[in-house]
Parts: sequence; structure tokens; C-alpha cells
Amino acid sequence: MLNINDLSAAYGVIPVLHGVNLEVHQGEIVALLGGNGAGKTTVLNNISAVMPIKTGSISFMGTEIKNLSSDKIVQLGISQIPEGRKIFTYLTVKENLLMGACTPRAWKQRKKTLDKVCALFPILKERSSQRASLMSGGEQQMLVIARGLMAQPKLLMIDEPSLGLSPLIMSQIYNVIRTFPADGITVLLSEQNALYALEIADRGYVLQDGHIVLEGTNDFLLNNELVKKAYIGM
Ligand code: ATP
Repeated sequence: MLNINDLSAAYGVIPVLHGVNLEVHQGEIVALLGGNGAGKTTVLNNISAVMPIKTGSISFMGTEIKNLSSDKIVQLGISQIPEGRKIFTYLTVKENLLMGACTPRAWKQRKKTLDKVCALFPILKERSSQRASLMSGGEQQMLVIARGLMAQPKLLMIDEPSLGLSPLIMSQIYNVIRTFPADGITVLLSEQNALYALEIADRGYVLQDGHIVLEGTNDFLLNNELVKKAYIGM
């Protein structure tokens, strides 16, 4: 579904990604693991064209997306949930959700999708007319994931959903994410929390200083000494 080939990136003269190769197959949950500053967000920002690709190529369902703008990429079916729960603080929960239905097709079907995301995260229905900034951190994370779903993506890229959340809330959110493939949504999950991510992922990649240093199935990675030591703390 997604094929990243020899992707390199830099901020100014400082290189950040070095020849990254990564594949996501339809129906998978793929984890992109790595510590602070490894380059995970930069990979996602290159896919969504938030950051233009300079070297390498990325294809999605057979289409080269290297030179497409972000809005075209959303229309093709890729949505990105940014790190750090970037909500529209002055808008209500419902208004935030509707902002996600940003393609003509998604807008037409917004009522149906709204019901669907509120069934996944019932708190969003309860708080629908409240200002989004009044929600807790965990509820805001649910809101931004639901807002991404409002665009009806085929591939959802979620950046560090566990950041700053309690284990209980993380489990609730991860239990929802794991249902996405059954609903036709493939997931690319960027995470520092390898244990959580690999529990729901089919496969994963480990990014260190902009290099993919390891890849494999969740079982392989969970039993790998580097992953255990550096990312699980065992
Ligand atoms: P984190 O989990 O901390 O968000 P990450 O793996 O997502 O880390 P990136 O955010 O992609 O990593 O950052 C990779 C490197 O690029 C880091 O060294 C970071 O400081 C640097 N970087 C990120 N954004 C910029 C920017 N806008 N300008 C300059 N350097 C940047």
C-alpha cells in the first residue's frame, strides 16, 4: 500500500533521515519505533507532504506521491494525527471533528462518520458541545484520532498517541486503534513506547539517528535484545 524508497531528509544542512526504506501492506498495523529525535515525525511529515521530499520516493497504492500537496494526499486516503494532540482549542468537540471531514467526499458523509467515531469514543458524543480545551489529555488524544478518521482515510498515521497518558487511558486508546484494520483502515504508528506499539502491531521498524536499524514481525522485535534493552527497559 505504502512504499518508501531511499528517503533522506535534512533540516537546513543537518541531515535527519538517511536512506529510509519502509513498506506498509493493506490491512496491517506497522509500528515505527525510535527514541526522541530519531526521525519518526520527519518520516510521517514526508509522507503527508508537510515537509517536501528532497531525496527518495514514496508511492501510495501505486501512485507516486512525492510531488503532491498535502490536500491531494488526504484526498488519496492518507491522514496524519500529529504528535502532541493539536486540537482547535476555541472550537467545540463537534466542530473539531467536522474540521477533519475536509475532503468533498468526507464532508458529504460527515453525519455517518460522526456517528461512527462517537461510537468508538463515546466521550466525544457526551462532550460534543463543550470547548475542546476543557477535555483531559486522554480525551483530547481520542478527539484528534477521531478527527483524523473523519477524513475517511485508507491509511492512518498516528504520531506518538501514548505521549503523556496514563497506562489506563493508553490501553483504552490502543484497544480502539487495534480495531481499525477490520474496518478497512491500515495504520502506521509512530511510537517511543515499543511495548504498547508491538502489542497491537503486525510488524515494526526501528529508527535510530535517521537509519532503519531493525525490522521484523512483532514477535521478532519483542524478543530482540536491542529492542528489549533500548526501548522496553528489560
Ligand atoms: P520525537 O519522538 O522526540 O518527536 P522523532 O523521532 O519524531 O522524535 P523528529 O521530530 O523527526 O524525531 O526529529 C528528528 C531530528 O530532526 C531531531 O534531531 C530534531 O531535533 C530535528 N528536527 C525536527 N524538526 C526540526 C525543525 N523544524 N528544524 C530543525 N530540526 C528539526
